[in-house]
Amino acid sequence: EPRTLDAFLDSCAAEFGDRPLVLTDDRTLSYTGAAAESRRLADGLAALGVRPGDRVGMLMANHLEFVPCKFAIARAGAVAIPFNFLYRVDELAYVLRQSRCNVLVTMTGFGDLDYLAMLDQIAPGWEDGPTEALPDLRAVVVLSTDGRERAGVHTVGSLGELGDAHPGAATHEVDPSDVGDILYTSGTTGSPKGVMVSHDAVQRTGYASALTRAFEDGRRVLFSLPCYHMFGYVEGLIASMMVGGAIVPRLTFTPADYFAGIERHRATDILCVPTMTVALVEHEDRRTRDLSSVFAILSGAAPAPVWLWEKVRSELGISEIVTGYGMTETGGAMTLSVPEDPLEQHSTTVGRPKLAGVAGLDPSDPVGGALCEYRTVDPLTGEPLPAGAEGELVSRGPTHMHGFWDKPEETALAIRDGWVHSGDLGLVREDGYLQLTGRSKELYKSGGELVMPKEIEELVSAMPGVSQAYAVGVPDERWGEVGCLWIVPEPGATVDPDAVLALCRDKLARFKVPKHVLLLDGAELPTTPTGKVQKFALVRRAGEVLG
Ligand code: ATP
Ligand code: MG
Repeated sequence: EPRTLDAFLDSCAAEFGDRPLVLTDDRTLSYTGAAAESRRLADGLAALGVRPGDRVGMLMANHLEFVPCKFAIARAGAVAIPFNFLYRVDELAYVLRQSRCNVLVTMTGFGDLDYLAMLDQIAPGWEDGPTEALPDLRAVVVLSTDGRERAGVHTVGSLGELGDAHPGAATHEVDPSDVGDILYTSGTTGSPKGVMVSHDAVQRTGYASALTRAFEDGRRVLFSLPCYHMFGYVEGLIASMMVGGAIVPRLTFTPADYFAGIERHRATDILCVPTMTVALVEHEDRRTRDLSSVFAILSGAAPAPVWLWEKVRSELGISEIVTGYGMTETGGAMTLSVPEDPLEQHSTTVGRPKLAGVAGLDPSDPVGGALCEYRTVDPLTGEPLPAGAEGELVSRGPTHMHGFWDKPEETALAIRDGWVHSGDLGLVREDGYLQLTGRSKELYKSGGELVMPKEIEELVSAMPGVSQAYAVGVPDERWGEVGCLWIVPEPGATVDPDAVLALCRDKLARFKVPKHVLLLDGAELPTTPTGKVQKFALVRRAGEVLG
């Protein structure tokens, strides 16, 4: 039965009552507590003039308050835009402006980021209402985490406080199929895009995860992945709410903190991206901390090699491993591998579609069939390809986005004939498993031939002394585009570009051999705030270097 997000929290509160929903080292928020706090804040937002359809931004790290705030915005009938809390000033300015955010709920700062100082830089005079730089931003609510106050700003010690003078102010007429969230993509291939997803969609993906992974009652899911991203939001928060579980959000990632958090809160699940998993299996605390409560790890966002999975079992004692793949546009993970899959399968594929459980595409299936359908198309023409052929992945299903906020051209390119185009290359194997091979935006054409960067990168990154390699296409008068290979040497190592070229000439067809080889320090790699390498920035930089 479709519900709005606030109705979902209320039904969980009715069912799970005083069980913990959020566990941090110094505080616990129960289901009933979260429902009550979100009601108070919703009243406060309504009193500030928030109306159904307004956009309320959240700039908040993985604090306990994230959860009631998220549901309060739904309860006020508004659309939540949880921003990346690591954005630097220009990135924050872009999303605040592009989203035409009406009200912002934030904290005084996080780490070395002072959010109020950033607002001063972006929109001087923001305390007094709309400004030239941010004409839609009517009010800012600041949760003071360091005792600081700011004249003229709604500064609160607890979010609920804001509504105490206005009980019952929030009422809303919202449909579960209305947009509940605008979530910005990571910005790996360009400026981040605001993905509009409905109240119903995120509950369906969360439910499908809990079902596909056979979650039993009361899982405790620990993660430092941000709550503003689909991964933490759906696979962490929403999925655990389906079974009366709790989340254990951590503010930043360090292996020592993960281990300490697991031990303290008896976490049953952890969420990771592969680089985090590597750090965990190598850290010495794994031997002294009690990790016996954890039995499952969910890893996504990038492929993890077989040896890493082996170490997850031998070094951490975690038996259940799961890989997932999805994008913001698909409402989070579409596919999951299942624990029974052989390790090789987890490394080379990203699993099969999640089970829908309700109102799936195949009603004859007892569990409702798959959550989504996918297939591959020719990346250039968009023509469907025969089963098993490699091409651009497209998918459709009830959890997919309504479109990008205020980007009609990008939306028309992304959703064609009802299919969401991923920009990812891959193939669907005969057994239904999805195998990824690269990103279509990162392909380039040299002398009319299509080059797959991944092939070159895999070859060169296996060379001694090479830590990472990134191939991008740069304009060339003669060939249209030619390859430029950026190499990050291992610390202290030297890499000879001529040796790299010799290897490429030996192993690759001529059109794939890069014309330029450039060296780069790891610290200079352009990345998104979440650590994905931005190839478009490497293209730009190659242009500057090569003249
Ligand atoms: P942008 O769309 O702004 O360029 P982005 O695509 O990185 O950024 P997200 O929606 O956060 O933003 O990430 C989705 C992408 O992450 C997918 O399209 C895919 O390229 C990659 N991805 C997700 N899961 C996996 C996985 N298991 N293995 C490899 N790549 C993955
Ligand atoms: Mg994307």
